[in-house]
Order: sequence, then C-alpha cells, then structure tokens
Amino acid sequence: MTETLGAGSTIGILGGGQLGRMLSVAAARLGYRCHIYDPAPLPPAGHVAEKVVTAAWDDLRALQQFAASVDVITFEFENIPAATLDLLEPVCPIRPGRQALAVSQDRLTEKDFLRDLGLQTAPYAAVDTADELDAALLDIGTPSILKTRRLGYDGKGQARLQGAQDAAAAWDAMQGAPAILEGFVTFSHEVSVIAARGLSGEVAAYDPGENLHRDGILRETRVPARLTAAQRSDAVLMAARILNALDYVGVLGVELFVTAQGLVVNEIAPRVHNSGHWTQNGCAVDQFEQHIRAVVGLPLGDGGRYADVVMENLIGDDMDRVPDLMKARDVALHLYGKPERRAGRKMGHVNHIQRPKS
Ligand code: ATP
Ligand code: MG
Repeated sequence: MTETLGAGSTIGILGGGQLGRMLSVAAARLGYRCHIYDPAPLPPAGHVAEKVVTAAWDDLRALQQFAASVDVITFEFENIPAATLDLLEPVCPIRPGRQALAVSQDRLTEKDFLRDLGLQTAPYAAVDTADELDAALLDIGTPSILKTRRLGYDGKGQARLQGAQDAAAAWDAMQGAPAILEGFVTFSHEVSVIAARGLSGEVAAYDPGENLHRDGILRETRVPARLTAAQRSDAVLMAARILNALDYVGVLGVELFVTAQGLVVNEIAPRVHNSGHWTQNGCAVDQFEQHIRAVVGLPLGDGGRYADVVMENLIGDDMDRVPDLMKARDVALHLYGKPERRAGRKMGHVNHIQRPKS
C-alpha cells in the first residue's frame, strides 16, 4: 500500500530556478502548496510558491525547520550536498531518494551504474592527475572529452581533446578537480526520454524528443524524434530499467546518443528536464504535473502525446524576440521571470505547436 498525500499538503522543493517554478505551478493546479529552499535570494520559483526559505545548504536550523514544515521533499537540481540530505532525511521523506542523487552527482559513478545495468556508454576512465590523463589517453584516444566528475551543467567543466597535444590544457581546465575522460561518441543525433515512476512502482514514459545543442547548451527539442519504432521502444525500456534499478519516485531524464551501434546513454538527470518542456503543450499531463503526482503518491498520467511540438529555449538576447513570438500563431510562451538577462542564461522557452497540414 502506498500512502497518498492529500490536496492541501505541502511539497518542499530544493532549488528555486525555473524548474522549481514550473513544478510549483503544476502543484498548485492539483491543490498542493510549495515551499522553496534556495541559498540565492529572490528565486524565480518564489513568485509562485507559498513560501521561500533563503538559507545556505549547511544551515542546520533552517534545513530542519524546512523539513518539519513540509510533507515531502523533492528537488530541481542534482547537486545538493550529501550532508544537506543527511539533515533532511530523518525529518521528511525525500523523493526521488538518495541513490538517484548519489549516482547522478558523479559522472564516474553514473557511468559505472549504467554499464552495470548493461547499457552502452562512451568509453571512459577516471582521471585524478595529469599522469592519469596521459594513461587514459593511451587507452581511449582522441577525439575525447575531459569532464569534471561533479558539478558540470550546460557543458561547463568540460574540455575537448583533438589530440594528445591538448592534454595539458585540458587538465588545467579541470582546476585540480577529479575528472573523467570520455571517448567522443560518433552520433547522428541526440534524443532524450523523460519518464516517471510512481510510488507504487508504475512507470510512464513520454515520447522521446530530439535535442539540438549549441555551445554545450540545449537549444531545441523536437517531438517526434527521428527514431525507428525499435529504437523508440528501446529508449523507453532503457529508461524503465534505470527507474526500477534506482527504486525511483518522480520524473527522470535520460540523454541518449543515436549511433550506428545503437543507443548510447550520455547521462541521466534525476529531475524534470529541459528537454521535457514540450510536454506542457503536447500532453494532457506534462512532466511537471507528472513529477508532482509521483512524489505525492497519486497515479501517473499516461504520457500520451496529442501534438507534434518544437520546444525552443530563449537564451540571453533571444528575449528580444518575445514581442514577435507573442503575436505568432500556435506558440506557447513560458517565461521564467528572471530579472537580469545574461548571455547563456535560460530566460524562458517557447513551444511551437505543429498543426497537421490540411
Ligand atoms: P547539460 O546540463 O546540458 O546536460 P552537461 O554539462 O551535463 O550538459 P553533457 O550532457 O555531458 O554536459 O554534454 C553536453 C553535450 O556535449 C552533449 O549533449 C553532447 O552534445 C556533447 N557530448 C558530451 N559528451 C560527449 C561524448 N562523450 N561524445 C560526444 N558528444 C558528447
Ligand atoms: Mg547533458
């Protein structure tokens, strides 16, 4: 038996960026309240949540008070310090749980986990010193990518190597942080699966989306993705296997490379995912509602898709296009209310709904 938290219950969300904001809106639609915990003042999620706590990840008192004031805790990003979770966990359930965070916080642990599940990854090796990088290069070769094991996002903390001559600069770019060398995967395109697992173990997946990155940042997701029927079910089955192995509760994103040798997992994200934003205008139950349903113990939506969608991120000066986008047909705008525009900063996104041509 699983216990459902009734409407009126309070969901604590660690992190108050745009993902926390859209989770809060979805929670409100179902009659739940949200409290946001974020070290940065005035987080975007604060505009739409019942309460915001501004305190550090190691603020013992603030964390305990936060955990005591909510019925379940979830998060919008995976880099929450383990010590923070140690403080919260005895007071309030955290969904998804610790294992999902531990696995996805460290690119090496993540790759080991995926390989042990029998899934394909890029060839990889741990690199803690310049000498280890030289040794790893003999094994993996170039082109390859050196990435910090922890705390990377939007392509940050990565250095590409075209040949052994790039080793010194790549190692310097890690600034002494433990790293992982990944062989460069030759792929035709990138796709991701957004899938969810409920408290009682049921799994629901969305149609895989096709992702376009520029400068390491996601620009666009399209559904349907260019996949054969067999690849499509493969992708969904891989996500289900990951969800079950982690005894996961909530929404998870799985990033995949499509290669001649099949689907290769790039990484997993234990949260709602930028490449799942299209679900807001392509599905009856979007990824944000799906995640809320899972963490409060409600039945999941089925994930079915009723429209083709192109999701486009609005990054930095893309915001200049908002007035025109407002006037365009079949365009759904989602803006994050961030006061300051910066190059490379995600300010919002648009879902272009593709009508069948008649
Ligand atoms: P995000 O926050 O967007 O998920 P990230 O910082 O976690 O990014 P990755 O997903 O590891 O970084 O890499 C970003 C992009 O760089 C990938 O989507 C892919 O286009 C490219 N990339 C990363 N690793 C490899 C690889 N081993 N082979 C080929 N391309 C890669
Ligand atoms: Mg990625």
